[in-house]
Amino acid sequence: MSLESFCQSLPKLELHAHLNGSLSTDTLKQLYKMQNPDSEDGEDIVMNIEKFSSFGECFAVFEVAHSLTVTPQAVFHATYNVIKEFNAENVIYLELRSTPRAVYGKMSKQEYIEAIISAFQICKTDFPDIIVKLLISVNRKQGYKAAKENVDLAIDFFIKYPQYIVGLDLSGDPKTTDVFLELLEEARRAGLKIAAHCAEILNEVETTDILEFKPDRLGHCTCIHPNLQGSNKILDMLFNSKIPVELCLTSNVQCKTVPSYGSHQFKYYYEAGHPICLSTDDKGVFCTSLSREYEIASLTFGLRQQELIKLCMLSVQYAFATTEEKNLLLSKIKNFNHKFCEQ
Ligand SMILES: [Zn+2]
Repeated sequence: MSLESFCQSLPKLELHAHLNGSLSTDTLKQLYKMQNPDSEDGEDIVMNIEKFSSFGECFAVFEVAHSLTVTPQAVFHATYNVIKEFNAENVIYLELRSTPRAVYGKMSKQEYIEAIISAFQICKTDFPDIIVKLLISVNRKQGYKAAKENVDLAIDFFIKYPQYIVGLDLSGDPKTTDVFLELLEEARRAGLKIAAHCAEILNEVETTDILEFKPDRLGHCTCIHPNLQGSNKILDMLFNSKIPVELCLTSNVQCKTVPSYGSHQFKYYYEAGHPICLSTDDKGVFCTSLSREYEIASLTFGLRQQELIKLCMLSVQYAFATTEEKNLLLSKIKNFNHKFCEQ
């Protein structure tokens, strides 16, 4: 079996995927058509996205995606397609994350979340092999008021749909100053798991604050190793914390937070045996897939197929799933492993 087909058929867990950034060009084209039924410009949108992607203008692609998910119908369709695509590449467990959006006259934040939940419910029947959860995001750039609103919404929806809403995600422009730890604490007390983007840029004080807060999972953790602008102090803190880190190889290379795949923080954490999982971040924006990320990890860091299976098995522990769900996920990966060993 080629590495590509192996990675495709491997039962995988995706723990760090932003809804809007995960929209494929096909989905964006469909959303554009939904909103502009009489227009012939669907192809232009795709060409623009391809142009933006090839120039590494990630934020322009995000803007296109955001401009097209402005009604509950569009959010439903977007969510449905993202689940369908992850399911098609044998992702057996998916945690999506998204910042609730209100669009004047079209959609409230509640309706935004309800639309995502509706898609989850339909997908449960249409794609029974994939378990899907939602993390409500707090976008740092939107300030305290929006952050507080989103935390309150996350708590309300967690009470209403505990099988779908499992956590809170801290994300957004890392150059903004506040990380709203007191709000994250409120969410944690209510029973939500916390995933926080951490050390995307060099900021030792903030990185220390986040590590001391002890989120359940961390995103990226780029500027922590001394070779990537960090220090031994924060590297030791991270290693001692044993907090799992979601690593997104292509996202970091394309956003130029690391110069190349070979210099990605993956190697330091993997060699140290620190808990990690591979994720896509924004598969639409960065033109990747979870299978492709496993393939890149294997090619770049010399991971054998057996080691890729082990990575998947370990990821199960870090998922914000129930014990019953984790047992099911583990049995699927073990079955795959048995079949693989028999070959
Ligand atoms: Zn992210």
